[in-house]
Amino acid sequence: MNIHCQICNEPWDDYGLRHGDVAAWEADMIRAGNGCPCCMDNGFTIPDEYTKPEPLVVFNCTDCGETITVDQDEIRYYDKDLAFDEPPQYLTEDGVVCEDCYCDYSECADCGATVHNNNSIYIQHLMKSVCYACIENYSSCDQCGQLEENMTVVENECFCKSCASSKVADCVECDKTIPIDEGILGADNEFYCSMECYDKAKEI
Ligand SMILES: [Zn+2]
Ligand SMILES: [Zn+2]
Ligand SMILES: [Zn+2]
Ligand SMILES: [Zn+2]
Ligand SMILES: [Zn+2]
Repeated sequence: MNIHCQICNEPWDDYGLRHGDVAAWEADMIRAGNGCPCCMDNGFTIPDEYTKPEPLVVFNCTDCGETITVDQDEIRYYDKDLAFDEPPQYLTEDGVVCEDCYCDYSECADCGATVHNNNSIYIQHLMKSVCYACIENYSSCDQCGQLEENMTVVENECFCKSCASSKVADCVECDKTIPIDEGILGADNEFYCSMECYDKAKEI
């Protein structure tokens, strides 16, 4: 069955109108009797309401701005999911990014967030990457400079586990010198070699 353009009388196949002979918006225009592609070719000005719809944005990388759009006509003729190949996309703390940009992201070993490498630190000796927010929980060893979560603090100096085991300090009570990770710390970070010295100091 044919439909004739009410402006120029061009015949259009009804089946073709529903199956991609013209764009979906053009088929609407022909059916409504407001012109057809032939009219347009002959200089007929089509009404404003019939215009090619803006392409639909299906993907926009937060990082590099890469945008993938799809023709809305494609979506009308085909199943939306078949109209385009879903591009690979990855969810990060910043938003959804493309495959290329995702290479610059890594997962924080502590909180599990996917953060940009510019916003995280790779801690070499612990062999893990930690985001800026989590790095607040770390301090750097006053002896070797390494970052670690649990520091041994002695007389306002903090030491990492390995430095603490090799570092010695003098007991404030009896002056005995022992490794700092074997001693006891008082309320003001004063160092005691044993519970005995700690208790003795308290008595005075
Ligand atoms: Zn026409
Ligand atoms: Zn990107
Ligand atoms: Zn984190
Ligand atoms: Zn250290
Ligand atoms: Zn002592």
